[in-house]
Amino acid sequence: MSALLEAFGTNLEFSRALAPLTSFKTGGRARYFVSVGSADEAVRAIKAVKRLKIPCFVMASGSNLLVSDEGFDGIVIKMDVTGLQKTSETEVDSGAGEDLMALVDLATASSLTGLEFAAGIWGTVGGAVYGNAGAFGGEIGAIVTRITVVDDSGQIKTMTADDCGFAYRHSALKDDRFVIISARFGLTEGDSSVIQARVDEILAAREGKHPTGGRSAGCFFKNIPDPKEEHGKLPAGRLLEEAGAKELRVGGASVFDKHANIIVNSGNASSKDIRQLADMMKKRVFDRFGIELQEEVRQLGSF
Ligand SMILES: Cc1cc2nc3c(=O)[nH]c(=O)nc-3n(C[C@H](O)[C@H](O)[C@H](O)COP(=O)(O)OP(=O)(O)OC[C@H]3O[C@@H](n4cnc5c(N)ncnc54)[C@H](O)[C@@H]3O)c2cc1C
Repeated sequence: MSALLEAFGTNLEFSRALAPLTSFKTGGRARYFVSVGSADEAVRAIKAVKRLKIPCFVMASGSNLLVSDEGFDGIVIKMDVTGLQKTSETEVDSGAGEDLMALVDLATASSLTGLEFAAGIWGTVGGAVYGNAGAFGGEIGAIVTRITVVDDSGQIKTMTADDCGFAYRHSALKDDRFVIISARFGLTEGDSSVIQARVDEILAAREGKHPTGGRSAGCFFKNIPDPKEEHGKLPAGRLLEEAGAKELRVGGASVFDKHANIIVNSGNASSKDIRQLADMMKKRVFDRFGIELQEEVRQLGSF
């Protein structure tokens, strides 16, 4: 134990409950847990993981995460690096642990356009870059100019947008060799009242489509690339709706009545309930359309 404390510092926690740190509010405990608030702390944590050979998982605000009820027998590193600033006429820098909505607010207040699509997307800037979060035809990867990461040997590096390999809900970061510390975004000068109006419009459009009060992880499945559809994607929610997924339920997990691609924990769901419901939804769509849905939500631990 002293080796662990020496390696990770005194803010190392043991047997940390993860459910309160996820939007689903389900799942077990992490054997070890550390919150990282700076690039130096991230370097120290990654070097310790390597030296001690401990299984490691990086999380942020847990809004795209399903944690096993059995928890995780390793260390969870929670990215809490903050800091948000305008660095030039059209660029803003953000710590990975900043709320994505705080970044949208800064851009709006600075009369910079390009981030409106992200209004109302849950989670942190780091989580959004990792998964190339998007909505309303926009994606975060399109406005990233560079990111700062710690690689798996503990070295701080800069990656360009090209290095990040952004694609639909995908980035090169998904091979889990890098921890994102911060990101820089390139925006365009605009009119703040027009930008604010678009942000408000998007927030209003999301209102009825997502469960208020959370307990979901947004869309569970990715949309299907299809050039004939709006934004080039066939919505998985439409297939799920037509396949009758809304009637499905497992324990405390159900399908949101206003959006068939969202699983909701109605209060007492386990992660196993959610997992089983997701499998049933997938099967419905496969049996009806022959399409295998791909998951957007990330899993931690064994199911
Ligand atoms: C109500 C609701 C609506 C949503 N709507 C949308 C939407 O419209 N569009 C959309 O794209 N998503 C949406 N989501 C999903 C979620 O908001 C995004 O995926 C979000 O970007 C996840 O960020 P997070 O900070 O919560 O990451 P987490 O859930 O904590 O982690 C997600 C993944 O990112 C990795 N990760 C996180 N931070 C870092 C880091 N600093 N370095 C390396 N890896 C990291 C983790 O390892 C994990 O694999 C929604 C979720 C909810 C609950």
